[in-house]
Amino acid sequence: MSPRLIFWISAFVRIVLVLMGAASAMYIWGPVTGLVLGLIGMVTLFCVQLFYLQRLADWLDNPNSSRLPDGWGAWTDIFSRLYKLRRDDEKNQAELAEWLARFRQAMTLLPDGVVIMDDVLFLEWCNPAAESHLGLSHAQDKGMRVTNLVRSPEFMDYIILGRYETPLTLSFRDRKLIAHIIPFENRRQILVTHDVTESERIDMMRRDFIANASHELRTPLTVINGFLEIASMQDDLDSHTRNMHLKLMTEQGERMQRLVEDMLTLTRLESVDYPPRPERISMLGLLEQILQEAHALSAGKHKITLECTGPDIRGSNDEIRSALTNLVTNAIRYTPENGNIRICWIDTANGPKFAVQDDGIGISAEHISRLTERFYRVDKSRSRETQGTGLGLAIVKHVLLRHKANLLIESTPDVGSKFCVQFPVSAISV
Ligand code: ADP
Repeated sequence: MSPRLIFWISAFVRIVLVLMGAASAMYIWGPVTGLVLGLIGMVTLFCVQLFYLQRLADWLDNPNSSRLPDGWGAWTDIFSRLYKLRRDDEKNQAELAEWLARFRQAMTLLPDGVVIMDDVLFLEWCNPAAESHLGLSHAQDKGMRVTNLVRSPEFMDYIILGRYETPLTLSFRDRKLIAHIIPFENRRQILVTHDVTESERIDMMRRDFIANASHELRTPLTVINGFLEIASMQDDLDSHTRNMHLKLMTEQGERMQRLVEDMLTLTRLESVDYPPRPERISMLGLLEQILQEAHALSAGKHKITLECTGPDIRGSNDEIRSALTNLVTNAIRYTPENGNIRICWIDTANGPKFAVQDDGIGISAEHISRLTERFYRVDKSRSRETQGTGLGLAIVKHVLLRHKANLLIESTPDVGSKFCVQFPVSAISV
């Protein structure tokens, strides 16, 4: 049976009972007494309804603080339904609060900035990423106009033109941001910001790398093409000139080969699909080989010494060999004749350490932090003279990164340089 039918039946039963009581009273005590008793019954019924109406009104005034009243008759059903509605409402509110908390947490973790504004760009809410991208503070700036907070002419133009279908690339507070305004509901707008500073930097590095590599390859190619042109136009070249041209072309060819090999090495070292394969490296054996090669390169022009007291380590033998060889050959290439080169491998409290020290031309302080950049050279002509590709220290840096080792450079112009490689204690082979 439906609650509405129950309500009407119970109301009807009560009225019928009062009327029957009044009719019985009329029959027993006469019509006047019957009418009076009937009237009293009706007034009592009416007062009871008023009493419960009043309690309901009191409860509705403050539904959260007071307990829902108990009822009588049809009121029992009304109050119990109200009680159920209140419980459902409380449950819904708790669920809504939980959802809101989850949504805020998700927004807090979002790497993209989200700013919610009203139709005239007054800040209503923003997440921490937006605070850091745009220098906003939700607590302090709430209710302020976003155009007064994000002071950028590009952003102002974007707002004035109102072409929100395309995002805006914005340079703001040393960052490169992609900003996009999306209107929603009728009177609200979302500003989404995406930080592309890092990807722009990588793109620029890639563009620079391609430009530098092309430039480096163009010089030897121009030399080779020039000599080939001379050879094709002049049949009567004497053998001395011809041999000299061939020698120069071979040198340039070798230079291109070194460049391409170094570029391939760098690409391989940067690849995540090519993790280092750790193996036990006998450091004494490795350093003795490097020493032999150093003597060959120096051709007796330098005094080279080796001290090896450190332990063997675990790592990629080829990569470590290439990194340490690069540092030693640099020491020879940038140290004039009769200079001294000291190579050592020792154990320290922080782990094993490799050092190569020379008393060569040295490097002034402003260059030191940039030496591991690709194609960075302090003196381009000197590097070419000594057959440098400008990629040696970039390779060293990547090898060391893959072995969790650090490169430390100390140098003074005209006094000499010291390149140290600090390996972690965990690199020691047990
Ligand atoms: P390159 O092939 O030009 O030698 P590297 O990446 O090996 O390239 O070195 C970068 C630059 O660092 C060199 O061009 C040189 O100017 C400087 N450099 C490296 N090692 C030394 C050193 N031992 N003494 C002086 N300068 C050095």
